[in-house]
Amino acid sequence: MNPSESSAEGLRILIVGGVAGGASAAARARRLSESAHITVIERGPDVSFANCGLPYYIGGDITQRDDLAVQTPTSLSQLLNLEVLTNTEATSINPLEKTLLIKNLATGETTTRHYDKLVLAPGASPIQPNLPGIDLPRVHTLRTLQDMDHIDQDLDCVASVLVLGGGFIGLEMAEQLQHRGLDVSLVERNPQLLPPLDSELSRDLAVALHEKGVDLHFSENMTSIKADGSTMKAHFQSGLELEADLVILSVGVKPDSHLALEAGLELGERGHIRVNEFQQTSDPAIYAAGDAVETHDSILGGYRPLPLGGPANRQGRTAADHIFRGEKALPYPGSIGTAIVRVFDQVAAITGSSERDLIKRSTPYKTVTINAASHADYYPGAEIIKLKLLWSPDDSRLLGAQAIGLEGVDKRIDVLATALRARMTIDDLCHLELCYAPPFGSAKDPVNLAGFAACNLRDGLLKPFYAVPETPAQIIDVRPVAKSQSQPVPGAKNIPLPELRSRLGEVDPDQPVFTICQMGKTSYFAARILQQHGYDAHSIIGGVNVNL
Ligand code: FAD
Repeated sequence: MNPSESSAEGLRILIVGGVAGGASAAARARRLSESAHITVIERGPDVSFANCGLPYYIGGDITQRDDLAVQTPTSLSQLLNLEVLTNTEATSINPLEKTLLIKNLATGETTTRHYDKLVLAPGASPIQPNLPGIDLPRVHTLRTLQDMDHIDQDLDCVASVLVLGGGFIGLEMAEQLQHRGLDVSLVERNPQLLPPLDSELSRDLAVALHEKGVDLHFSENMTSIKADGSTMKAHFQSGLELEADLVILSVGVKPDSHLALEAGLELGERGHIRVNEFQQTSDPAIYAAGDAVETHDSILGGYRPLPLGGPANRQGRTAADHIFRGEKALPYPGSIGTAIVRVFDQVAAITGSSERDLIKRSTPYKTVTINAASHADYYPGAEIIKLKLLWSPDDSRLLGAQAIGLEGVDKRIDVLATALRARMTIDDLCHLELCYAPPFGSAKDPVNLAGFAACNLRDGLLKPFYAVPETPAQIIDVRPVAKSQSQPVPGAKNIPLPELRSRLGEVDPDQPVFTICQMGKTSYFAARILQQHGYDAHSIIGGVNVNL
């Protein structure tokens, strides 16, 4: 399918879904063709609203509800000269006749619309586990402005909330509900929060929540919710029982792909609509974008869904681009998985593959974690960023990165997401020329330092060890005496780095040595001294910060 610009004039384009992917497709389509007949069909009453902002209205960071309505149906229609049908559901596609059956949800009336091109952007629905009590009135999911309003109203007369699920939305909700002064419990089925993040970084998120008084429970499976007077009791497989006045379910989303399934379009293993680089489905006249699709995985190959706002918007744009510009359209290069969340005073961000992804895909990888200051440490306000890189041992190409900290986490992961997209290696990271003045960064940015550490590891200059070894092992704690005494490492001997050269006699040359410090940098310097004196010295990655 390769329409020229002129033959695409006057096309009838139907778009199912009027929020991120759908509105973006409509806007790009109109900018490319003034003569196309574009209709947006939206089941709900709103179009183009900021679903990412919903938790922040509930918590009070965003005070004006109207700020969440990026466009109203009328303003969208006027701005782009579109037909916008709200409260209207697309109920079936006939790909052979190129028709779409739609139903006016207010009147029940159904009509058939013909299309030249159809764009599906139906999104994904919150998963509602099939459990007793899940339909109690104060058990909520959050997707629409109406969901938000219901939660907001109910919160006025409750004191405690149970958030089920510690993914992105669950974490944002826990933070915002605590801001609102409620007692918050958060229960996660996995042994850690935010499963896309590797566990040693995720631990810091748990600490941040715990310190703010959020009651955390891991590895718990809910079995039922029961009304208990004016409150509710949630029951878990382990026997745990938690009382809450309101429950937020944030246990993931599933693609709204039943229209595509019934029309015989190709779906992926988990029910996502499979698309090519121009967002075309297995029927070239039907495009799809957003949370309902899976695109090429440009890091590991195969396909991956990525239910996030950025991909949905850019995919919608790509679909419209291809409809009007054919092969001249800029293809969607595939998702890499870049995401960020703030939980009180911790920000966690990820791009590319995590260690868990790589193990699952049997992809060989190497990894290093550094701790570095967000800006020059002598300039006030520097915060520690924990930054982890994953790369391929075959060609040193970056496979993923994760960071946690506060200031500057977004910037480092954005740089690394760009590096990943550009298929850079760990060597390339060493000489990225990044902004530096004391309030913003350091002469060696954390991204450069992570590149140095990765190259040192690859080149054998750094022998990493990823945990405090079991005793008996020869562990040398190279921190200052006071630090070592205040946070002792079990079984370690304290030899501060400046004394190491003069106290080498205290280190047994016939046994491996494991050096440890606070964050993993001084232990590397110590290991280099020891290695050059003939010791089999290993540096404990991340130091006590990661390992104790
Ligand atoms: P949606 O935006 O969900 O739009 C799909 C629309 O299609 C819906 O309005 C639906 O009513 C309509 N529809 C479905 N089926 C039909 C049908 N048969 N007929 C007519 N209409 C239909 N992403 C981020 O990147 N960062 C964030 O911080 C972030 N925070 C979020 C917070 C919350 C609370 C939520 C819910 C999501 C958040 N997201 C975030 C995810 C982001 O909002 C989605 O990835 C994005 O909106 C997906 O766009 P979409 O167009 O695929 O689907």
